[in-house]
Amino acid sequence: MELAEPAHSKLDVHFRIGRIPGRVHWSFWLFAALLGIVNPHASLVTVSLWIAAVFTSIVAHELGHALAAQAYGMAPRIVLYGMGGVAVYRPVRKSWISRVVIAAAGPGAGFLLAGLIVVCGVAMGYAVRLDPFDFRVGSGTLIDGRMGLFVRDMLFVNVFWGLLNLLPIQPLDGGNITATILARTNPQRALERSFQISMYVSLAVMATMLVIFNSVFMTVMFAALAYSSYNTLTQIKGSY
Ligand SMILES: [Zn+2]
Repeated sequence: MELAEPAHSKLDVHFRIGRIPGRVHWSFWLFAALLGIVNPHASLVTVSLWIAAVFTSIVAHELGHALAAQAYGMAPRIVLYGMGGVAVYRPVRKSWISRVVIAAAGPGAGFLLAGLIVVCGVAMGYAVRLDPFDFRVGSGTLIDGRMGLFVRDMLFVNVFWGLLNLLPIQPLDGGNITATILARTNPQRALERSFQISMYVSLAVMATMLVIFNSVFMTVMFAALAYSSYNTLTQIKGSY
């Protein structure tokens, strides 16, 4: 995602992967824990495994953006906060293709990581069952115990969140890609049109999450995205 990053604090955790520095804001641990706790079968073990899976997956996602940005000669850094993260870089190159590649590299890295897990599972003799709401790599059922839970969480976050992130919704990566592509044919109206698409798609996904999946969390999240798109749209129209 491309969002403004939160202020530095004493609770920040710092790390470095190669030449890419990373910072974890305290809000990241809070949101990850909250998402783990809402599970009706939550325990200290399941929540800890969930936080570890979310952390690894979001780092992989942002690393995807950052490595792509680095390949284009930029000096990126990663910040994890709230429900996700951001790869911050100076837009040295602004070609539309570089923007699309950098945006797609985030979910791409997640799919790659999920693919690696599945390949390793199969190589170790486990059967693979892929169900978008219950990913499992297991011999008949699951890899046993904690490792099985971790694998399931990893596949869920990397594949399911990765796919959602590619929807043409602002400020998700898919919304970013949509705006970039629209700007090629109509630069003046691209932002407005991308937020229109974003609002309608958010409403459609919201209705689907409510009616078909009965997911309160997802419904609220896409309602918030629809409202935020609506808000930005009114601001854009007011600026003409
Ligand atoms: Zn992203």
